[in-house]
Amino acid sequence: MKKVVSVVGARPQFVKAAALSRAFAACEGIEEVMIHTGQHFDANMSDIFFSELGIPAPKHHLGIGGGKHGEMTGKMLAGIEEILLAEKPDCLLIYGDTNSTLAGALAASKLNIAVAHVEAGLRSFNRRMPEEVNRVLSDHVSKWLFCPTQTAVNNLKTEGITHGVHMVGDVMYDAALDAAKRAQAGSDILARLGLAAGSYSLATVHRAENTDDSQRLQAVFDHLKAVSAERTVVLPLHPRTANAVKAHNISLGFLNIIDPVGYLDMTALLVNCFDVHTDSGGVQKEAYFHGKECVTLRDETEWVETIEAGWNRLWTQPVMAVEKRAISDYGTGNCAGKIVSVLLREL
Ligand code: UDP
Repeated sequence: MKKVVSVVGARPQFVKAAALSRAFAACEGIEEVMIHTGQHFDANMSDIFFSELGIPAPKHHLGIGGGKHGEMTGKMLAGIEEILLAEKPDCLLIYGDTNSTLAGALAASKLNIAVAHVEAGLRSFNRRMPEEVNRVLSDHVSKWLFCPTQTAVNNLKTEGITHGVHMVGDVMYDAALDAAKRAQAGSDILARLGLAAGSYSLATVHRAENTDDSQRLQAVFDHLKAVSAERTVVLPLHPRTANAVKAHNISLGFLNIIDPVGYLDMTALLVNCFDVHTDSGGVQKEAYFHGKECVTLRDETEWVETIEAGWNRLWTQPVMAVEKRAISDYGTGNCAGKIVSVLLREL
């Protein structure tokens, strides 16, 4: 039996872990041991994902939420190292691009433990984003690089990484398909909010590049205000954005603000919305998965195929493409199975 230690800490990682932990549980040759760093800790940003999506409770919880980037990453690095020394895994698995991702990558590589990176190769080419630094560094110490798109494979090649690169599709598509099946019976959010299907836009805002700059944050909410002149805008408000809005004294009276929601409610909101306005990486793709147009509240995106296929536009682009096509890169909903097969074969 091989042992994989996985590291999660933030909301998008719980969604990805939902798909992969299920695949590990179904695989007899690999035991998964999960570490939760505590980067997201509120009940509606963390616990609800574990209970709703059936993710096994993490064996280790570091409880490291908040603090400056270096301080948080450093504490996580030390905490993960202790656990790796005790668990002695055959592989450390990390997701995406958060501080938890980078801390896991560094802790394992210093101990010569092989690193598997899920969602490798994504690039915004904007090094001012903390996520970009996290993903570039994590990719360069990884042994297995599981890419969601051909563009990601090409990005790695440009940086000289060709070994251990596997184009497996998008693990979030696995999670989205599963949640869509369950959301119809498992969520009553439309009734609770008094929303008719197709009558509202769904928005999310949380990127530091938007929340940390008062002018940009104001521009984002000016955009949403213009949308709200057409139809109701529902915004599950991320805690970081709630703090920024207070600090910058921005008024949100024109929006239908709700607390962050669990994944089944989020999926129901996505399935039934008119369109999506977001600065989230995951939500851009989920808009496409559920057949909705998306306006991305950023100046660049890692998910370029959503734009090329006509489902997404940056808010700096004036119009959405009229012609739309399907995106084959994301796969058929069996990305987690492919990742587990590679690890089973190569560990
Ligand atoms: N999400 C959710 N509830 C919310 C807002 C987002 O379940 O109130 C989900 C969303 O559908 C996506 C994941 O959280 O699957 C993405 O997280 P986030 O936008 O925080 O991060 P990013 O994808 O930008 O890394």
